[in-house]
Amino acid sequence: MGDLWRKEKSNRPKKSNFWVKWGHVLFVEKERIILKSIYIHTERPEDTFQVGAVIGQTLPAGSVVCLYGDLGAGKTKLTQGIGSGLGVKEPINSPTFTLINLYQGRLPLYHLDLYRLVEPEELEELGWEDYIYGEGIAVIEWPEKLHGQLPASYLKIRLDQMETATEEQRQLIIEGIGRAGSELMHLILANLAVLKNIKISTR
Ligand code: ADP
Ligand code: MG
Repeated sequence: MGDLWRKEKSNRPKKSNFWVKWGHVLFVEKERIILKSIYIHTERPEDTFQVGAVIGQTLPAGSVVCLYGDLGAGKTKLTQGIGSGLGVKEPINSPTFTLINLYQGRLPLYHLDLYRLVEPEELEELGWEDYIYGEGIAVIEWPEKLHGQLPASYLKIRLDQMETATEEQRQLIIEGIGRAGSELMHLILANLAVLKNIKISTR
């Protein structure tokens, strides 16, 4: 009797482990489907910088971040935060006359500002693909200028000053494109939890 009970007991965890395992897989899959975008409201430039810093701490080697938004939306401010999170010590500015600036942190940071790009040939001369497909982090302002020549996985961030918002309020929408991009979203969301005063929601 005792043996039979032990046998049953020893069988049971196996079975339940199986279901727990599948339950977990289903849960993870479900969570993945749900996390399409992260919405963030920032109240001042420093908040946007802090969000960038969390992203910079989280990005794995080879990441590409595309920043969309009008002039003055805060793309460079966010890039400065990303640089800080990557451990860049130098000041990061809008590259007025250069299309690409390189900074060194725990990984190289390539800051591309394509606003002034007129001819796509200019970009070819720079060998931009080396930056985007390299081991460093590429942060691209005005990625529209690449006319869709983007890697399969990247982080897409849209910054907007909403019509009803005050001068210093911004909305950031983060979306992970491709498999690596969507996996990165979960890490970023978890790490953003340290920013207690910033409104974050997911969709
Ligand atoms: P972009 O690179 O998108 O053209 P910048 O980052 O260079 O924009 O400039 C954004 C400007 O808006 C900066 O002067 C910054 O101080 C200001 N600003 C005000 N509120 C915010 C905010 N919540 N987030 C980011 N920048 C803000
Ligand atoms: Mg800029």
